[in-house]
Amino acid sequence: MRAVVVGAGVVGLTSALELARDGARVRIVASERPERVVSSVAAALWLPYEVEPEERVTPWALRSLEVFRELAQDATTGVALCAGVDLDVDAFGASPPWMRALGVRDLRAEEIPAPFTVGRAFTVPIIETPVYLAWLERELAGFGVAIEPRTLAALADVEAEADLIVNCCGLGARELCSDDAVFPIQGQVVRVPSFGRDTWELFRLSDAEFGYIVPRSNDVVLGGTNVRGAEGRTPDANVTRDILRRCAARDERIPQEEPRDVAVGLRPGRTGVRLELEHLASGTPVVHCYGHGGAGVTLSIGCAEEVRTLARGT
Ligand SMILES: Cc1cc2nc3c(=O)[nH]c(=O)nc-3n(C[C@H](O)[C@H](O)[C@H](O)COP(=O)(O)OP(=O)(O)OC[C@H]3O[C@@H](n4cnc5c(N)ncnc54)[C@H](O)[C@@H]3O)c2cc1C
Repeated sequence: MRAVVVGAGVVGLTSALELARDGARVRIVASERPERVVSSVAAALWLPYEVEPEERVTPWALRSLEVFRELAQDATTGVALCAGVDLDVDAFGASPPWMRALGVRDLRAEEIPAPFTVGRAFTVPIIETPVYLAWLERELAGFGVAIEPRTLAALADVEAEADLIVNCCGLGARELCSDDAVFPIQGQVVRVPSFGRDTWELFRLSDAEFGYIVPRSNDVVLGGTNVRGAEGRTPDANVTRDILRRCAARDERIPQEEPRDVAVGLRPGRTGVRLELEHLASGTPVVHCYGHGGAGVTLSIGCAEEVRTLARGT
């Protein structure tokens, strides 16, 4: 089977690898390389966040968790298991079903720093996306698959070259599929050099005051923002200052001076992830896989396996 995968973010590369391992002759076409797309802005914690619908998200997330735990045994993948805490000033709502897989422990009152009132501790994979995306690309190279720079005006542009098209174009679905259900969720992060921290933290003081600290091999990602509908990818200096202020209140060791690296990404929000098979007017099958919101890394492996299952049925 000749499969053309559109998109070289985490969803496209993972789907391409799954298909290549399954014996397909895979090509990847993408307007932007992995290091330029939102996938490389994500910190990324394994956490289903800003994504729907729960009944489909949960099995994709749990399958990805299983495989990320295995990948964490190999340091070259950029995946590591890391302990951390989630702190809040309001009681947590009902635990989502995937939480059971994490062995969550509620913090005792004396373990919860002021002004927070609740806290829970658990261990999740951190997927250091620049390292992980490069690892995926190397795995693909082992199957002779490279990323071809090309912007499609329509999926039909590649129908003559493909027995199957896999559409992992993220936010690009607004133009490529005229999908009105897709919208950007802008996020800014600040990356500072490592300062000896090896646990992550999520914290929320109000709907406007929240953030996270995520240690990686050579830096620490500080976040962040979550602005529905905002389009720009240019960092905002005021937001940078605000992120540094909020995170410094949680860990005074955080370096406040340069060097630091600031990045903005547009999460591909959608009313629900689109993962389904359809056919172009020519009859060419297309598996759509986009709209993963704030959880594309978290869901990538489970979704790629479903892409492969749909592909086998074509
Ligand atoms: C600040 C921030 C923090 C985040 N943290 C996390 C986290 O902790 N955990 C987590 O799981 N997720 C996190 N995310 C979300 C995650 O980054 C996204 O869900 C994920 O990267 C989406 O991947 P994707 O492959 O669908 O899209 P993208 O990475 O955007 O890739 C889309 C690809 O499609 C290509 N494309 C688009 N249109 C066309 C076209 N017409 N022709 C050819 N190619 C096209 C693009 O060039 C690109 O290669 C975070 C995001 C941000 C911004």
